[in-house]
Amino acid sequence: MSYQQYLEGEKLILTVPTTGGVHGKEANPNLPEQPGEIAEAARECEELGASIVHLHGRDERGERSADRLQEINDAVREACEEIVIQNTTGGTGLPLEDRAKGIRTDPVPEMASLDMGPMNRYQHLTAENTRYQIETLAREMREEGIKPEMEVFNNGHLNEVYRLIETGLVDEPYYINLIFGPGTLTRPTPANMVNMIGDLPENSIFNVLAIGPHQLPLTTMGILTGGHVRIGMEDNLYYRRGEPAESNAQLVGRTARIAAELDRELATPAEAREILGLSG
Ligand code: ZN
Repeated sequence: MSYQQYLEGEKLILTVPTTGGVHGKEANPNLPEQPGEIAEAARECEELGASIVHLHGRDERGERSADRLQEINDAVREACEEIVIQNTTGGTGLPLEDRAKGIRTDPVPEMASLDMGPMNRYQHLTAENTRYQIETLAREMREEGIKPEMEVFNNGHLNEVYRLIETGLVDEPYYINLIFGPGTLTRPTPANMVNMIGDLPENSIFNVLAIGPHQLPLTTMGILTGGHVRIGMEDNLYYRRGEPAESNAQLVGRTARIAAELDRELATPAEAREILGLSG
């Protein structure tokens, strides 16, 4: 079904996660952390064809801070033309009230991430993502007209997507982010991606996110299988083996070139809004 969308020329939504909440400048000094740096990265990527920016808050020292999201949202709106803002609601060990700050900016974002289940972090941490937490966030997003991107960290989380759809707390088209990588993520193999695409609910749209060295091959496969892709420094700090990325724009620029060669046009932010049914 999704390959059909490739054949039919469905435009490609490119999301850029400029910075995450885990690694910092010690891992790559080019990682943007402050509002001005994040906004500049978003502006460069929008110029290259990114239509969504996925945002995390970090404080002055670069530590994750949901309180900073307002300032970062403001800076991105100021710097960019019309890019769609997608705030995170993730955060291992953070109380739900803190995570909900991602959907309580003024104005509220058009999109937000919604983690679909638990995963391990480091030696002693687990991101809980209980059903209660997921439904509480989903309910508020629905009330505020915020489109959730459902984060499927592993195959079992697809069960939770089906379950959430049954509750009626998410609306069509369902936007599902398939995540591939180490630990409790889906093992990053082409075969696993094909299987998961075949298992998606009806009326869903999928995005591919892959960690580290898997970003380039698996997102390219996502382009060919009719999905959308997320490319940026939250997920991968290297341009190629042994060569740290200079910027988010360097990574996004390469994927934009690959998409052009594969005859997949990039969606503008306005087109992304239409594809995803954002209330705008
Ligand atoms: Zn994130």
